[in-house]
Amino acid sequence: MTIKEGSLEAPRREPIDWQDADFHDRDAVDAELARVFDVCHGCRRCVNLCEAFPTLFDLIDESDTMEVDGVDRGDYGKVVEQCYLCDLCAETKCPYLPPHEWRIDFPHLMLRAKATRFKEQRPRWRDRLITSTGLTFSTLSAPGVRQLANGAAKLSVIRGLGERLAGIHRDAPLPTFHGRRRRAAARQPLDEPVAGERTSGRVAVYATCYGEHNDPQVVEDLLCVLRHNGIDAKRLDDATCCAMPKLELGDLDGVAANKDANLPVFLAAIDDGYDLMSIIPSCVLMYRQEIPLLFPDDEDVARVKTAFFDPFEYLVARRRDGLANLDFKHPLGKVAYHAACHQRVQAIGQRTREFLALVPDTEVTMIERCSGHDGTYAVKAETYDKAMKIARPVVRMVRDADADTYGSDCPMAGRMIEHGLDDGTAATHPISMLRRAYGI
Ligand code: SF4
Ligand code: SF4
Repeated sequence: MTIKEGSLEAPRREPIDWQDADFHDRDAVDAELARVFDVCHGCRRCVNLCEAFPTLFDLIDESDTMEVDGVDRGDYGKVVEQCYLCDLCAETKCPYLPPHEWRIDFPHLMLRAKATRFKEQRPRWRDRLITSTGLTFSTLSAPGVRQLANGAAKLSVIRGLGERLAGIHRDAPLPTFHGRRRRAAARQPLDEPVAGERTSGRVAVYATCYGEHNDPQVVEDLLCVLRHNGIDAKRLDDATCCAMPKLELGDLDGVAANKDANLPVFLAAIDDGYDLMSIIPSCVLMYRQEIPLLFPDDEDVARVKTAFFDPFEYLVARRRDGLANLDFKHPLGKVAYHAACHQRVQAIGQRTREFLALVPDTEVTMIERCSGHDGTYAVKAETYDKAMKIARPVVRMVRDADADTYGSDCPMAGRMIEHGLDDGTAATHPISMLRRAYGI
């Protein structure tokens, strides 16, 4: 039989059978891991994407047989632990995704292995805490608590204790907690919004845990930029976490619970004529790809998927319809822009760069590598050093760009670059750059 290297048909991600009896069966999972590891061993295209592949190839190369059959099944988990579900291997490298007969979807196999481990053993309390972002972040941003939390994060004694007792690396970049901002961004009188070919001109912004509790300014900036573009933009106040951290932990029931909590909020906005948007690419990806693949027959999930936009994808669509505001007041100069992995895998094109480049006297250098933040990967004691190693090339590229401003679509990736640079400069989200360019 001749094996094809690729396929003429477009690769696709397939629905995840997580409610199937076999999905969490340890023997079935290990057999599939062995099958896929063997293909990866022969291919090795993804060796430089993350630590999962080098871990796998080291296990194979150091085994007696130098093949997958020489690797102890008990060590498969070492590979799984290094995967933070960025999706890059599947979306940018792998020629063996379905419809190829080998049907390799490495991130979704990692997800299955994580979900199986989650069922088999109760996760550490640290992991339950840092993946329950909705509850944890609400608690830490409460009046009185946030001052303590923000202060403690700066004390080396406390950070040392946190590393020993909770497994949060003492040097990890931790978010700052803010109070919930209910104040609406400066409203301008709006005419009736004009619909474009794909856009309604009405946007409900899903602030997300990070936007609510750690960086409310960037949500405010997004609302201002949208309104400056004649869009009727409002903040959705009652939505909870998208559950990407729970997905990373393998807690699929937790993902389902958050989805059930958020869907009525999103559907009400859609019924009122609003498109949906989030400033965090991972949260957009959850509703555009991961949740639809986990609930392929759910019509409400499908409606939400169609309604969700990336901010710059929306602005570029409005520009193509002649509806964007291109009256920029200030140049941005040299911009070092990091394209976040969870935005890149949405296959929407380089929309952030495209729109920023419209600002006169602006030169955008785009960086397409993992920043190393990767959800909880950069804060855990056991993976912080690896995260910093992954971040190093991006930090070097930002430094070499000698830019007037730098930032990422993902505010957490921006903070990671800032942490790596450690020179007193601060990352700026591209939407905040745009607000500055508009002079609003
Ligand atoms: S999804 Fe990302 S982290 Fe996981 S194996 Fe693929 S490239 Fe590595
Ligand atoms: S995930 Fe695909 S491209 Fe990457 S090493 Fe495995 S087989 Fe090769």
